[in-house]
Amino acid sequence: GETSDSFAIEESLKELAQLADTAGLMVVGSTYQKLASPNPRTYIGSGKVAEIKSAIRAFEVETVIFDDELSPGQLRNLEKAFGGDVRVCDRTALILDIFNQRAATHEAALQVALAQMEYQLPRLTKMWTHLERQAGGKVKGMGEKQIEVDKRILRTQIGVLKKELESVRKHRKQYRNRRFSVPVPVVSLVGYTNAGKSTLLNQLTGANVLSEDRLFATLDPTTRRVQMKNGSEFLLTDTVGFIQKLPTTLVAAFRATLEEISESSLLVHVVDISHPLAEQQIDAVEKVLAELDVSEIPKLMVWNKVDKVTDPEKIKLEAERREDIVCISALTGEGLLEFCNAVQEKLKDSMVPVEALVP
Ligand code: GDP
Repeated sequence: GETSDSFAIEESLKELAQLADTAGLMVVGSTYQKLASPNPRTYIGSGKVAEIKSAIRAFEVETVIFDDELSPGQLRNLEKAFGGDVRVCDRTALILDIFNQRAATHEAALQVALAQMEYQLPRLTKMWTHLERQAGGKVKGMGEKQIEVDKRILRTQIGVLKKELESVRKHRKQYRNRRFSVPVPVVSLVGYTNAGKSTLLNQLTGANVLSEDRLFATLDPTTRRVQMKNGSEFLLTDTVGFIQKLPTTLVAAFRATLEEISESSLLVHVVDISHPLAEQQIDAVEKVLAELDVSEIPKLMVWNKVDKVTDPEKIKLEAERREDIVCISALTGEGLLEFCNAVQEKLKDSMVPVEALVP
């Protein structure tokens, strides 16, 4: 990241550490380096390689994760340089691991499998060079032929998966159309991972959704019924969280998961207002929403974690100055009543008369 400033790099590494934690790894340290351009062989410079190598020995490190995507060659060279059983991976592989661990529905599992295969495709060389080495270089030509065969098999599997995914989506849509003939409005929570979406869901519904200081606590859309004291109700759906640096290869899988929201009555954008990059995160979410064809759907923004900011009064004044923002703390419960009232107010405007839904 030679063009970004140190702050952005450190934020990105912090997110990477959170991702690693989510994947079940214990993070012992992180480091970065500013280069005019990445080293084509090892991504980082030789001095940095040596520095990491000694850290590997000192802390008995098993995995080294790079924040950027590494080329198959860089991966191989780094593994060789670090030696032993040290696993080298990049952000994409790490996120795929997490997706894999968390995929609960058939559709999500298919999406993850597809993304994993597409990730593997250009990296097949690695596996076969290993084999070549084992065979003492005798199967050089064969290895190359085998790569082609393997790539063909993988491409066929990718095609099969894509078809299956299409059919699953079609069925989901049918199911959804049926569900939506019931006049209960659906409210979707969108926003960055760790913004507090599942905490909010829990607070409002008593639902037992995962809520921990982890990324992707809710990969699959989770829907809960919220009943208001005045008898009105709505369905509240959590969506897969945004991350600061989503590898381009995972964008399709990520967006497919978000497509659900195009059928909701209201979008609630949950923001961790205590986050140093809150403004950038808001912009990034809004940019994706703008591309998702959901401009017709009413929106409400929630500034969460007001209990954590240094000057809550200033934040609250700023929220008042703008439109459609409610300040809350999903943790302490502050502002939740105002939030529910705002949701109801918004739903009133968008409510479809019951008769309109009866054929
Ligand atoms: P999600 O990824 O958007 O679903 O975020 P979570 O609901 O899992 O919350 C991420 C972390 O932020 C958890 O450790 C929560 O306890 C914490 N958190 C959520 N809401 C608040 C809040 O209002 N205040 C504070 N201080 N922490 C919160």
